[in-house]
Amino acid sequence: MKNIPSTQEKNKINELRNCILYELKYSLGMTLSNASSSDIFSALALVVRRNQMDDYFSTQERHYQARKKRIYYISMEFLIGQSLRNNLINQGMMEITKAALESLGLDFEIIAKSEEDAALGNGGLGRLAACFIDSMATLDIAGSGHGIKYEYGLFHQQIQDGKQIEKPDDWHASHSPWLIEHQSQAMIIPLYGRIVKVQDQQGDYNPMWMDWKIIIGIPHDYLVSGYNNNTVNSLRLYSACASDSFDIHIFNHGDYLNAVNQKIASENISKVLYPSDEVLAGKELRLTQEYFLVACTLRDVMHDFFLHSTDLNQLPEFVAIQLNDTHPALAIVELMRILVDEYAVDWDIAWDLTQRVCAYTNHTLMPEALEKWSVTLFELLLPRHLQIIYEINKRFLLEVERWQPGRIDLLASMSLIEEIPEKKVRMAYLAIVGSHKVNGVAKLHSELIKSNLVPDFYHLMPEKFTNQTNGVTPRRWIQQANPRLSSFLDRHLGNKWVTNLNLLTKLKALTDDRNIIDELVEIKKYNKIKLSHIVSQQQGIVINPDAMFDCQIKRIHEYKRQLLNILYVIRVYQKIIDGAAPILPKVHIFSGKAAPGYAMAKLIIQLINQVALKVNNDPKVNGQLKVVFLEDYKVSLAEHVIPAADLSEQISTAGTEASGTSNMKLAMNGALTIGTLDGANIEIRDAVGHENFYSFGLSAHQIAEQRAAGRSSYDEYLSHAELKATIDSLISGTFHSDKNLFSPIFHMLVSHGDHYFHLADFDSYYHAQSQALADYSDTYSWHQRALRTISGMGEFSSDRTIRGYSADIWGIDSLK
Ligand SMILES: *Cc1c(COP(=O)(O)O)cnc(C)c1O
Repeated sequence: MKNIPSTQEKNKINELRNCILYELKYSLGMTLSNASSSDIFSALALVVRRNQMDDYFSTQERHYQARKKRIYYISMEFLIGQSLRNNLINQGMMEITKAALESLGLDFEIIAKSEEDAALGNGGLGRLAACFIDSMATLDIAGSGHGIKYEYGLFHQQIQDGKQIEKPDDWHASHSPWLIEHQSQAMIIPLYGRIVKVQDQQGDYNPMWMDWKIIIGIPHDYLVSGYNNNTVNSLRLYSACASDSFDIHIFNHGDYLNAVNQKIASENISKVLYPSDEVLAGKELRLTQEYFLVACTLRDVMHDFFLHSTDLNQLPEFVAIQLNDTHPALAIVELMRILVDEYAVDWDIAWDLTQRVCAYTNHTLMPEALEKWSVTLFELLLPRHLQIIYEINKRFLLEVERWQPGRIDLLASMSLIEEIPEKKVRMAYLAIVGSHKVNGVAKLHSELIKSNLVPDFYHLMPEKFTNQTNGVTPRRWIQQANPRLSSFLDRHLGNKWVTNLNLLTKLKALTDDRNIIDELVEIKKYNKIKLSHIVSQQQGIVINPDAMFDCQIKRIHEYKRQLLNILYVIRVYQKIIDGAAPILPKVHIFSGKAAPGYAMAKLIIQLINQVALKVNNDPKVNGQLKVVFLEDYKVSLAEHVIPAADLSEQISTAGTEASGTSNMKLAMNGALTIGTLDGANIEIRDAVGHENFYSFGLSAHQIAEQRAAGRSSYDEYLSHAELKATIDSLISGTFHSDKNLFSPIFHMLVSHGDHYFHLADFDSYYHAQSQALADYSDTYSWHQRALRTISGMGEFSSDRTIRGYSADIWGIDSLK
């Protein structure tokens, strides 16, 4: 298969090989003979970074000369994963790197595997940010990510006796070859202190923020290469460093964080990522982190702006700030503080500039995920910011009063300050009011923001509300994760699909070509065998690569309904015992982490593992049905599971999943979807063809109606004999000797109302599953539909999403 290298290529390989040895010796202080895989990785990464650096400076200079508007994408999370393969692909260095390592007697796969994931995020929100910075660089947008350099990323998950155990993720950030520390750009960030009311020379009120303490913020640059275009942008990650006078408040968030805490001294603002997804932690340290990120970023914003202009009225021409959820919403307040307090800009002008600069992306409709911060905490930590919020609110409520005179109810419900039971700042309202655009992340989600989440805000300012359906980068999620599918696409479409994913539609014409379908069958088979090896190494479970691989990989959450999936497995298991099984074989693959404090999610993990133990070892099942829980879900593991999936589980209760992005990754890699009409599933189903999507369950509208009507899950349980038997097995001792172990799940479903409609959707789900399984037995037509699915996925590239933000939100539509 391999081509014989030309002399020129041989020279390049030699040069690269020498560079690796050079870095190994002079940067890391070792020779090949005593270097580990991880040392070789570091040396290679330093070579790659050196290549990026020249492109980085020329990109920055070029963007500066072109007076390009800069996009600051602020996010508390960037879930990057590994970077070596991605950088090598984007820089066109993959093949010569493999050859250079081979010439040193080294295997690229082993070297690449030794890279630790950068897990500075929980799930979809953080991974979206990572896809976006990739697309911004590929589209040559002057855009940078801004986040925190957590010393500990998302915890590692171990499964012991079926239970999740959390271990700190010490990813050795200080030794990461990708991060360049800029001590010389250290920033001073004030907090705490008090406000002194004084008058300026004109006699106007001029508050002074006094006696604050300071934290030092230190930026680190992680370089972000575009695909094959010489553009290199950056992700700036700030670490906190205590100044002498700064006494940090010790925080406390359950055992996991306490364990991390044992290791820390006083400078802990950038110590650890909060491990909860979709729920608010509500701790002082978290608010400090959010402020720290925003304050550091705005110092960079102002610095960059003043390189272009001293006229602050021009700020919106050079700067766009995108807020990834409400976590960085304080950027609005910090920018007001800078303009009004530091540059004496008139309030109304400052407010107009701020709104034109900022835009907010909403990620959730779930009430428990909406950030609200106690006013008392604000007063202590950020007294001047609280004053500014009050002033913003005062003016906003006057506007509400002018809009709907006499509506006292609206003044209370739309206020940025919640009064009862405790005074709190409503961060989502602050973000809406301070932004010129508010976007949801899928069409349904954006509609629900307007109709259910904040209808009054929508009616007052309808022009702000917009949609940008999420996307994922095809560089990582096809080209890197699935090299065989990638060369299949190169063969049949040419190589332009990587940056123009709409070319996938051309595959439609090929779905009746037997040879092409056979190629696709082979690719999937190869990926499934590879995953089987990982499963047997990690879990000691043997799975059959000819079985259907049914995959649900995502954070464990009640709304995502891993429980519905495992209840289905239990039902099938019972049928096997009764001698009435559906057509098999099948493997259910689960992977995902639960927030350390989320007891129900952790219990669901335990249930999955106990069901696996029972089913996998029951001779009556005879290996026909298997359940696998892959430990420690993360980006690099996702890259192995996704190319091997036949069926993608996207089964959230309709109206709860804002978009979902694993649904996109899986469909792009040829998995058919079983899913509810929720989030981006709806758009995926339209794009791939309804006949290739197993939809089931109540619609978001029906769910809302039934909630309002007050349905009884207890009646559903009683009136349905088969389902009752399935649920009763949770408390019968079938899956654990302790009969009471899973009774909280039983009661959640039966006596506490089954908030996420597992029971109501069960039959419909069972039926869709049976259909998918039956269809899978026709390998040829299944893979025809897989190809048809891939062909429809072009619009789910994050390049399309970023073009949408550019045109509709950032006001930069002159992209190539
Ligand atoms: C894509 C991705 C997610 C998001 O998955 P959803 O199913 O959309 O929640 C979470 N974690 C990782 C590691 C991912 O790659």
